[in-house]
Amino acid sequence: MSHEDGKQVPDKQVSGEQKEKDLSFDTRLLHFGSEVDTATGASSVPLYQASTFHHADVFNPPLHDYSRSGNPTRQALEDYIALLEGGTNGYAFPSGMAAISTAFMLFSAGDHLIVTEDVYGGTYRLLTGILNRFGLEASFVDMTKIEEVQAALRPNTKGIYIETPSNPTLKITDIAALAAWSKEHGLISIVDNTFMTPYYQRPIELGIDIVLHSATKFLGGHSDVLAGLAVTANEELGRQVKYLQNGLGSVLGVQDSWLLMRGMKTLSARMAHSEISARRLAEWLNNREDITAVYYPGLSDHPGRGIQERQSSGYGAVVSFDVGSGDRAKRLLNAVKLPIVAVSLGAVESILSYPAMMSHASMPPEVRLERGITDGLLRFSVGLENIEDLIADLEQALEQ
Ligand SMILES: *Cc1c(COP(=O)(O)O)cnc(C)c1O
Repeated sequence: MSHEDGKQVPDKQVSGEQKEKDLSFDTRLLHFGSEVDTATGASSVPLYQASTFHHADVFNPPLHDYSRSGNPTRQALEDYIALLEGGTNGYAFPSGMAAISTAFMLFSAGDHLIVTEDVYGGTYRLLTGILNRFGLEASFVDMTKIEEVQAALRPNTKGIYIETPSNPTLKITDIAALAAWSKEHGLISIVDNTFMTPYYQRPIELGIDIVLHSATKFLGGHSDVLAGLAVTANEELGRQVKYLQNGLGSVLGVQDSWLLMRGMKTLSARMAHSEISARRLAEWLNNREDITAVYYPGLSDHPGRGIQERQSSGYGAVVSFDVGSGDRAKRLLNAVKLPIVAVSLGAVESILSYPAMMSHASMPPEVRLERGITDGLLRFSVGLENIEDLIADLEQALEQ
């Protein structure tokens, strides 16, 4: 993997080719190239807590010269996520929104984007409350219907922004179909892969140009670090994202880069465990009369299940469900004892959130309702607790 300036990253522990071609995803998570420090043999990436780097010879500058432009600890993380997503270049940002806003800076005033209708609340706010002031136009469409996407195309359309499964109603978009359509029209295609992670879904392998993450969620996995990641499908887009990251100064700090790598090593184990539990929870909820809707792509009656199975190797660990009313949702939130009641998802502990008052509070109520985000809707991010304990807790809370 080379830097934007063409310099080579120091040699990896295991030959890059073997790593990329032969090793399974689970093994790659632990053997990603920087797992052993070449200088000392240390078993984790060293923390290069430095803002700048000495030029011992001004004619032959060091690989990294200033930490906004590049830092070895952050670089290890950036190479790590690029490897896992199957892209050429990775970049680390101080939050998911920082990664997303930087990616939108690839576009210019007067450009138009087509965006998943029930997109993450913060992304919706960014497009409708901030970037609109800079002349970036966005149409929000139901991406489960390709004809709606096609109808949204304008002469000035430059990009398509996909979130699948969508948040919080877990609608599934056909990534490969839209990537192909996007290529036909010369658009930049972007997928927010936060919910699936590369463990389940690798959009670049399906033809997507840029993958984004809120690494605050499953990648970090412990509710203790805020971070964002971007991966590009080719070096040219990589150079453009790098130019923006450096120019905007949107970089992840060294300690958080280290902490994120520490969390990512257990991604497979965490995702696999949580998903088995999420399937059980979804089935349990689905069998209850007092739950008016259950959204989980692994349910046999989920309209997107076929596409999900084609493009991903699992269904994920997030289950949304409707308890029928805002009053009941609030009673339940006050009665549960195990999950933390909070914004966010993707952690070792279960997180129960209330989209209407939390992640999607910035969406106008009429828009929210149109997108199925009712006052009774709850989103359960299943952690690593015993699932029968979680279900028993939910059952007592539903009885309140
Ligand atoms: C949380 C989240 C974001 C925003 O990430 P932050 O790290 O909170 O800035 C973006 N997209 C999705 C799908 C998310 O869940």
